[in-house]
Amino acid sequence: MEPRFRETAFIKGVAQVAQLPLDEGIEIAFAGRSNAGKSSALNSLCGRKALARVGRTPGRTQEINLFALPPAEDWRLVDLPGYGYAKVSAGQREHWDQLLGDYLQARRCLRGLVLIMDIRRPLTELDRQLLDWVPLDRCHLHCVLTKADKLSRQQADRQLHGAQRELEAMGVEATLQTFSSLKNQGVEDLRGLLADWLNAPA
Ligand code: GDP
Repeated sequence: MEPRFRETAFIKGVAQVAQLPLDEGIEIAFAGRSNAGKSSALNSLCGRKALARVGRTPGRTQEINLFALPPAEDWRLVDLPGYGYAKVSAGQREHWDQLLGDYLQARRCLRGLVLIMDIRRPLTELDRQLLDWVPLDRCHLHCVLTKADKLSRQQADRQLHGAQRELEAMGVEATLQTFSSLKNQGVEDLRGLLADWLNAPA
């Protein structure tokens, strides 16, 4: 089945893993540092202006936002709370960490994680911490290096290869691509990859 990204529809936002829908079907989750460009990438993927809110105040309470992805009844895109925003209380940070960690480790229907990173600063310490939580034995990982329009083609390729080598050194198996929400670059590649994940046997 071909996913119809343009028909993606908001289901709900949850602040606790207990409020998630039944752990059935297939979920593809999107994670990234706050301000990395995750909302913009989701909007580009879905061909929409405001599916996910761009540039929202990162300090506000964040939830896991779930979206239905037709035509399947049980395909979902999952927007995970951005991490790494400096101006939050330790308590709030702990809550987000727990929410993220619980989701990534407990969710059986998680088929793949798309990690959104600013191409100028891929694989920060916090991104590495997140990767520790991803159950890579049963979950695909794809790294999207966004804001590629901020670099020359040559610089972008250098960043991509550097990130690839770092992942290899960490023993993490992943695919990577460059991306630009501004220039709509890499969107079709991302759609194709996610379609493959969704249609692959479990
Ligand atoms: P999020 O916090 O990860 O959801 O990031 P946003 O999508 O809200 O983007 C953060 C900032 O980066 C906003 O000012 C966006 O306009 C900008 N931005 C996002 N994607 C791109 C991109 O591909 N190119 C450029 N030049 N700016 C981008």
